[in-house]
Amino acid sequence: MSTSNGSTNGAILEVRDLKKYFRVNSGVFSRSKASLKAVDGISFVIEEGKTYGLVGESGCGKTTTAKMILLLEDPTEGTILFDGEDALTMKKDELRNYKSSVQAVFQDPWASLNPRMRVGSIIGEPLEVNSTMTKGEIKTRVGELLTEVGLQAYQSTLFPHEFSGGQRQRIGVARALALRPRLIVLDEPVSALDVSIRAQIMNLLEDLQDEHNLSYLLIAHHLATVRYMCDTVGVMYLGRLVEEAETEELFDNPQHPYTKALMSAALPSHPDIEREEIILTGEVPSPVDPPTGCHFHPRCPQRIDEENLCATTSPVRTETAPGHKVVCHLYGDSSQ
Ligand code: SF4
Repeated sequence: MSTSNGSTNGAILEVRDLKKYFRVNSGVFSRSKASLKAVDGISFVIEEGKTYGLVGESGCGKTTTAKMILLLEDPTEGTILFDGEDALTMKKDELRNYKSSVQAVFQDPWASLNPRMRVGSIIGEPLEVNSTMTKGEIKTRVGELLTEVGLQAYQSTLFPHEFSGGQRQRIGVARALALRPRLIVLDEPVSALDVSIRAQIMNLLEDLQDEHNLSYLLIAHHLATVRYMCDTVGVMYLGRLVEEAETEELFDNPQHPYTKALMSAALPSHPDIEREEIILTGEVPSPVDPPTGCHFHPRCPQRIDEENLCATTSPVRTETAPGHKVVCHLYGDSSQ
């Protein structure tokens, strides 16, 4: 069902045909420019109160996608609908509301917190800049936020170096919560943390989601994190979404050869589960000069060589089960 603006009912954020091309030098000694297609026409929907995960190898475009949603990068083309309104054409007040409503937690809690600022100032800064709260009100709110993320109000006077890695990430979460956002972009939120602490931060994020009906966009390469946290997962390869499904469906029934390879390389969820590891040959090709046809064809163990199909023709998206979309010639019309 669609709203008057055409967005999906229940969607907090909808990305349509989003692209980001960078102009780069085409060679070491060349002055001519080429186009690096970091994100090449992706579309997905984040439902209110749900978690959408983007996975793929480093350089596949997932962080650039997150930056465009956070308005830290200008898209080359495409639409970012927030509550059905295009964030890229919003005027001043709407834009301020969007920026407050969409916050981020980054990977490295050591680098993302200013070491010279006390924690109270780090968490309170968005409130000082974006609200009319008094100093006393901000202090009270910072105390509440610290408590909410499992720390204590008195710790607002300490500096970041006085905290452990997990505690610092809690501070990053408290800062992201300060403006009462509705969507938080989680860019590899636990991958810099010790394995023993990851579950604690994931549980905290889940509890906060339940309590505040938060929506998350989770950027991650660690599949166990994705499986634990996400409702729906999109798999990216060379700037494009190649498969999307609800989490359990994707993990139980991966269909795209790239998704199968990614999952075969990850540890199975149970030691009794046998899984044959699919070794991909070759490097990820350059997004400056991506392969013709299906971008994955030079590495694909299931490539269709008949009439050079995969090397010459881009596959289209096919729905193989409700909500399970695959972009591959093995499925849909071209497989028949
Ligand atoms: Fe492999 Fe062809 Fe499918 Fe691409 S379209 S993933 S090359 S089978």
